[in-house]
Amino acid sequence: MRADAVELVAQLLRIDTSNPGDDSGPGELVAAQFAADKLREVGLKPTVFTTTGPRRAGVSLFLPGSDTDRAPLLLTGHLDVVPAPEEGWTHPPFSGLIDDDGILWGRGAVDMKDMVGMILAVVRHWARTGYAPPRPVVVLLTPDEEAGGTHGAHWIVQHRPELLFGATEGIGEVGGFSVELPGGRRIYPIQSGEKGLMWVTIKVTGTAGHGSLIHHDNPVEKLVATLHELAQHPFGVALTPTMQEFVDTVSGLVGEPLALGDRELLAQQVGGLSRVLGACVRTTLNPTMLSAGFKHNVVPSQAVAGLDIRYLPGTRDQVLERVLSILPPGAELEFQHDDIAVETPFDGGVADAIVSVLGDRDPDAVVVPYLMTGGTDAKAFTSLGLRYFGFSPLRMRPDMDFWSMFHGVDERVPVEALEFGVEVLDSVLRRC
Ligand SMILES: [Zn+2]
Repeated sequence: MRADAVELVAQLLRIDTSNPGDDSGPGELVAAQFAADKLREVGLKPTVFTTTGPRRAGVSLFLPGSDTDRAPLLLTGHLDVVPAPEEGWTHPPFSGLIDDDGILWGRGAVDMKDMVGMILAVVRHWARTGYAPPRPVVVLLTPDEEAGGTHGAHWIVQHRPELLFGATEGIGEVGGFSVELPGGRRIYPIQSGEKGLMWVTIKVTGTAGHGSLIHHDNPVEKLVATLHELAQHPFGVALTPTMQEFVDTVSGLVGEPLALGDRELLAQQVGGLSRVLGACVRTTLNPTMLSAGFKHNVVPSQAVAGLDIRYLPGTRDQVLERVLSILPPGAELEFQHDDIAVETPFDGGVADAIVSVLGDRDPDAVVVPYLMTGGTDAKAFTSLGLRYFGFSPLRMRPDMDFWSMFHGVDERVPVEALEFGVEVLDSVLRRC
């Protein structure tokens, strides 16, 4: 099972499933067919399905449990990856190369063909040995997670909810990897919630005219002033129940209260985790796009900015109201994307199994729930009422920072991290 997981991940990394977000990529069909073939090879009967087009595809598989009364547990992984221009990579991003140091390279090595390969390896092992888990398991491999799931999870929830077989809890990304703290302590953050997102465009209008004259109604100036005003009033720290638990636990490990309002001190306390942590405890708003004008000597009639807003659960309306209150008169706000925040308590059978298995396999480490800053397929799946945990187990090497590889160059994973992960995943599922 360990070797199978490594080989499956390597092979998946060699299939280019880049998702540029405009449906122009190669799609996931080849990867879906590969995964389905690997399941059929051991006698399983997966379904390959397409969503909005012939190249956008996923895989669904139902595995009966020995306890037929129980609702299934969903195991999910997305087949697409963010694009990876070769520039800056030590080894080509779709090489699936294992180097002399035992590191497997490629786009998707941590996000998240690692988990897809591990899921396949576990269920192939079960099929080969005739094992049935206590609880029925549904494997669902999705397309289009990296672009918000319009061609993937959201489409599935709307058009093919039966592919989830009524699962009541789910396991997927982003969590379960080890993170080293500066004092030598190690934690496994498990995602039990994620922030909501609003991608909005602000359009400010003014009076067009010649660039050589005096102007009192220049939309470029008004827009810049608005963005400056937004930046001057960042959202404050607010702990959701998940992050309260995280902060209490990690403060205990660090030996003092986490300095959530002090960037430098927080970095000393928790190292590289501080960049992520800062965004888990507050709403963030980042201007990400700007456009106005077409010529040096023409004042344009409008200026446009794109904002990426990630809000804490339960605060959407407040956040939106605050942004609207800062806009100048006549400005328009348009939504490009509006998706919910989700949060569930880290408890119940799945959480207990994760804590107990990681406690056995890595007794010095501490398991702790956290709120993810990004968005995953969890948003779509939870709309069907299921509880979702980001748990794709990996024991990373102490000097490897998972977060910097996530969508970064030189995405890679140690072979032993996958071998650890697939055994942990197998054990957790046997205890769920
Ligand atoms: Zn992902």
